[in-house]
Amino acid sequence: MRSHYCGDLRKEHIGEDITLCGWVHRRRDHGGVIFLDVRDREGLAQVVFDPDREESFALADSCRNEFVIEIKGTVRSRPEGTINPEMPTGEIEVLGKELVILNKSETPPFQLDEHQNVGEDVRLRNRYIDLRRPEMQEKLRFRSKVSNAIRNYLDDNGFLDIETPILNRATPEGARDFLVPSRVHDGQFFALPQSPQLFKQLLMVSGFDRYYQIAKCFRDEDLRADRQPEFTQIDIETSFMDEEGIMGLTEDMIRKLFLELKGVDLGDFPRMPYSEAMQRFGSDKPDLRYPMELVDVADLMANIEFKVFAGPANDPKCRVTALKVPGGAKLTRKNIDDYTKFVGIYGAKGLAWIKVNEIENGVNGLQSPIIKFLGDEVTMAIMDRLGAENGDIVFFGADKAKIVSEALGALRIKVGEDLEMSEREWAPLWVVDFPMFEETDTGLTALHHPFTAPSCTPEELKENPLDALSRAYDMVLNGCELGGGSVRIHDQEMQAKVLEILGISDEEAEDKFGFLLNALQYGAPPHGGLAFGLDRLIMLMTGTESIREVIAFPKTQSASCMMTEAPGEVSAAQLRELNIKLRKTP
Ligand code: ASP
Repeated sequence: MRSHYCGDLRKEHIGEDITLCGWVHRRRDHGGVIFLDVRDREGLAQVVFDPDREESFALADSCRNEFVIEIKGTVRSRPEGTINPEMPTGEIEVLGKELVILNKSETPPFQLDEHQNVGEDVRLRNRYIDLRRPEMQEKLRFRSKVSNAIRNYLDDNGFLDIETPILNRATPEGARDFLVPSRVHDGQFFALPQSPQLFKQLLMVSGFDRYYQIAKCFRDEDLRADRQPEFTQIDIETSFMDEEGIMGLTEDMIRKLFLELKGVDLGDFPRMPYSEAMQRFGSDKPDLRYPMELVDVADLMANIEFKVFAGPANDPKCRVTALKVPGGAKLTRKNIDDYTKFVGIYGAKGLAWIKVNEIENGVNGLQSPIIKFLGDEVTMAIMDRLGAENGDIVFFGADKAKIVSEALGALRIKVGEDLEMSEREWAPLWVVDFPMFEETDTGLTALHHPFTAPSCTPEELKENPLDALSRAYDMVLNGCELGGGSVRIHDQEMQAKVLEILGISDEEAEDKFGFLLNALQYGAPPHGGLAFGLDRLIMLMTGTESIREVIAFPKTQSASCMMTEAPGEVSAAQLRELNIKLRKTP
C-alpha cells in the first residue's frame, strides 16, 4: 500500500507523489488547516490538509490519535520558519490529497505523543500499544540487529544452527524445572529446557563440530530484577577446541559486535582467576569500571580485644576486609546509615567506618566510632596498608567470608555509582579458574554444571574435590555475567567420578541422563562451549535498566504476563484428560 515510510522522507523527496500508511500520532487544528503527524516504525511525518479538499479535510478532522490511515499526497518543503531541526523529517511536510481511514482506535490507555510517566503495569497490560513507542521500537530493532550480527558471525565461522527440543526430561542444571504433563503418558511429565546443554554435547558426539542456537530457556526461579522465567541464550558448542580457542573466538565475536553496532572497541579482555576476583572485588563478576578494591586486614586485627573483628580475624571461614573510598569522607551520617542498611541485605550485621580528615595528625586526624576498640597502633597500620589519604572513608566488613565478600563487593559498586567513580564506560573481562565444587548444606554441588571438566585427573579430583579447579570461564561486562561455559568432560570415567563426588547415584544418573553417559562411550570428541544471555547483552548495549524493556512480551517480577494473564486456570476437562487432580491449597 505504501510507497515510503513516514520516517524516511527527506528533502530529496520534494515534489514526489507518495503514499503513506501509519498511525495518527497527533492531530492539530491550526486556524482552518489540519495537521496530522503520522507515525510508522521509521518515524513521523507531518501531513497538512487544506479545507479546499473538502472530503479529505473532513476525514482528517475526524481522525483521532492512533487511527490507522492511508494518505496520498505530495512532499513539499516546509514554509520558512516552520522547519523543525529536531525531527529527521523536519524539513519537509506532505500536502495531503486523499485520506482513507483504515481503522479507528479507541482512546489509548496512555498517550504516545507526549512524554508521560505511565506505570509499568499499565504499559505491560497494553503492551501492543506500549511497543508503538519509538524507544521500544528502537530497542527491539536493535535486538534484531544483534541477533543478526551474531548469526552472521557464527555462520561465517562455520557454525550450524541446529534446533533442540523444548519438551525434555528434567536435567540437573541447578534451577527448578517448568514441567509439562504428558497426556499420552499418564502420570509423566516433560520438563522445559533450562538450556540445551546435553543436546549440544550430543551434537558434538554426532560430529557437527560447531553448533549454535538462539535458544529459549526456562528456569522456574524466584525472580530478581534482571531475571525472567523464560529467556534467550546464544548457545554455542564446539569440538576439538580448548578453552583458549573458545574464549578467543567468542571474545572476537563480542568485540566485533560492539564495534559494528556501537562503534565501541572493547580491546583485549583481561583474564582473572575466580579467587582473585573474590579477593579483590568480592564478586565472581567484578565491575572493573570502578577502581576501588577490597583489602584484607584480618592479620592486623587478630590480637585486638574487640571480638567483632578479632573473632572473624581468627576464623579461617571468615574474612575481615576494608574498602577505601576516595573522597568518601564527605558522606553524611544519613548516607552511612543507608549503606549500613544496604549491606544488611547481604547479611552483614553492621558497617564500621573510619573517616580520614587529617592523616598527618595520626589517629587524631581520623573520625570513627571504632578507633577506641581497635587501638591507635592497629588503626594506623590499617591506614598504612590502605594508603589512606585525606578525604577518604574506609568501610569494614568482618563476618563469614561469603557475607563479607558479597556485602562489601556490592557496597563497592553502590558507592562507586553514587559517587560517580566509574573510570570507563566498558570494562570486559574473563573470569577463569573457578572451583569445581562448592560446599552447601546438602553436600557438594557443581559450581558450573556436572558436565564441566576439571583441570586435574580423576584421582586428584577424588582426593581433594574442594581444591579442584574447573575448565570453566565466564565473560563479564560492567559487573554483569554476559556468558559462561566450559570445556566438558568427554571421558566416561571422569564423568562417573564427578557424578560420584556430587553424590548422584548410578541409578539417578542413568535415569536422568543415561543417554549422555552412553554417548560418551561411542567416540565423544573433546568439546566445550558457552552460552550468552541475549536479553542481558541487549540490556547492556542499550543502557537499559530493566530486562523487561528489551523483551517484547516479558513476564513480571511474579512470573506472570499482565497482558494475557498467563498463567491461568485450565478447565476441569483438560485436567481430567491429563489425569490431574488439584489438591486444595490450605
Ligand atoms: N548451559 C550453560 C548455561 O546455560 C552454558 C554452557 O555451559 O555452555 O549456563
